[in-house]
Amino acid sequence: IQHLEDNGEHCFGSKYPSVPVPDNLTLPEFVLQDADLYADKVAFVEAVSGKAYTYHDVVRDTGRFGKALRSIGLKKGDVVIVLLPNIAEYGIVALGIMAAGGVFSGANPASHASEIKKQADAANAKMLVTNGPNYEKAKGLELPVIVLGEERIESAMNWDDLLKAAENAGECTRFTKEEVVQSDLCALPFSSGTTGVSKGVMLTHRNLVANLCSSLFSVGQELVGQVTTLGLIPFFHIYGITGICCATLRNKGKVVMMNRFDLRTFLNALITQEVTFAPVVPPIILALVKNPIVEEFDLSKLKLRAILTAAAPLAPELLTAFENKFPGVQVQEAYGLTEHSCITLTHGDPIKGHGIAKKNSVGFILPNLEIKFIDPDTGRSLPKNIPGELCVRSQCVMQGYYKNKEETDRTIDKNGWLHTGDIAYIDDDGDIFIVDRIKELIKYKGFQVAPAELEAILLTHPSVEDAAVVPLPDEGAGEIPAACVVMSPNATESETDIMDYVASNVAHYKKVRALQFVETIPKSPSGKIMRRLLKEKMMEKMGKN
Ligand code: AMP
Repeated sequence: IQHLEDNGEHCFGSKYPSVPVPDNLTLPEFVLQDADLYADKVAFVEAVSGKAYTYHDVVRDTGRFGKALRSIGLKKGDVVIVLLPNIAEYGIVALGIMAAGGVFSGANPASHASEIKKQADAANAKMLVTNGPNYEKAKGLELPVIVLGEERIESAMNWDDLLKAAENAGECTRFTKEEVVQSDLCALPFSSGTTGVSKGVMLTHRNLVANLCSSLFSVGQELVGQVTTLGLIPFFHIYGITGICCATLRNKGKVVMMNRFDLRTFLNALITQEVTFAPVVPPIILALVKNPIVEEFDLSKLKLRAILTAAAPLAPELLTAFENKFPGVQVQEAYGLTEHSCITLTHGDPIKGHGIAKKNSVGFILPNLEIKFIDPDTGRSLPKNIPGELCVRSQCVMQGYYKNKEETDRTIDKNGWLHTGDIAYIDDDGDIFIVDRIKELIKYKGFQVAPAELEAILLTHPSVEDAAVVPLPDEGAGEIPAACVVMSPNATESETDIMDYVASNVAHYKKVRALQFVETIPKSPSGKIMRRLLKEKMMEKMGKN
């Protein structure tokens, strides 16, 4: 490993040489560079419907959509919420917004209308793009809405109509280079970071181009145009939009779009679409290992060469069970976070097996990144083999949380280090192991759940006096949100009533799935909820210890 010195601190670099990052291309320009050479090749295909877009279509419609957005008043820096499942057009919508100088902010289609309103307000959004099935949730927002699909909705604009009008208005200049530059914001995904509720993460074209250059460093020229990637991870999440959509476009591969997980459809898609690379999350690996449906398929037909698992920890036993069942498929783990534009640590090239890190490690440091591990109490950097809070410094570090200087300053220190809230160490070979998470974040099947958001909802219930939400380990989901609640003395509601109350206010993946009534919520002298203690107590009561 490369041991860098930073003012006498322990600081580590990649064992691979630095890679150049072009400084004159916006993200759409970077990922669609040389697309004309692959004009007839399919870029996106829907696994179920077969609807497809070639590279020619993607370039044409990205240009048309960008132009259409400007014609209806989108200004540079305006945020556009995209409320869509993983459909064939998703990548075009996102790139079109960026090409027009707008800022793409993906929203989870599982969200309630109230959650989408929160995101739109927090992002100061100027427009929203959705489809027919999700339109209901968007219509109360008082924003111009663009709807994809055949249907024409009176109070909304139709995507096809807009593209046609843009085409009729003449030549589509794809990228307005003079106006849109690398230092401009291009994406505003939401993340709760180390504490509090979800916040907009400001990412520039430069951030994402740099992340792609680092994460694709080992993919050889011979693989360009050859990889078929499964597009199951939602594109509203950084793992989907950067790690799958943009990475595959940059290498002129094909993305097989799936808008929800169903094991039969998933296996069918892998076989019929000849998927070679499947980025997933640990619960999908669990299903592949344990679910008897898998036996219905002739696995010898799989063309799958590698799966990538990220977003949450992978249990070592699960990894072994998967390797035994799918001996020809290489398992790669990666670690990343929204605040770092996506991938941060990886096992290298998914197909060639280049630079494989040790089993159960999340991988090695990508080129161009600096990493250090600090003692969370003293802030002092630690030598190798000693766990501490993982901090990263690179061109992929976000610009900050949107309109939230306090949380930005808490997360990025004055020397530019992003504090991840994860505890990890690096070994003698440069492989990194995540051992714990000190931030409040809960990860349910890889989806972010912010305890502060659920606590705020619990406190709106008239019988709830105090509440705290913590993660509990769960085999299927990785973690589940669990609540400790102090009820008012005359309350008559049961635990289930309170859980139902939360469920009626949030997307399904944020539901509180275990709840205990308690006398008090333990807090530190400064008023902070003592989450670790609560978690231990809950597990003890549930007999999980
Ligand atoms: P997100 O911003 O939603 O991608 O969440 C990032 C967080 O997910 C990280 O800070 C980690 O806590 C967790 N995470 C991501 N990848 C991994 C991994 N491979 N192993 C363990 N935790 C992970």
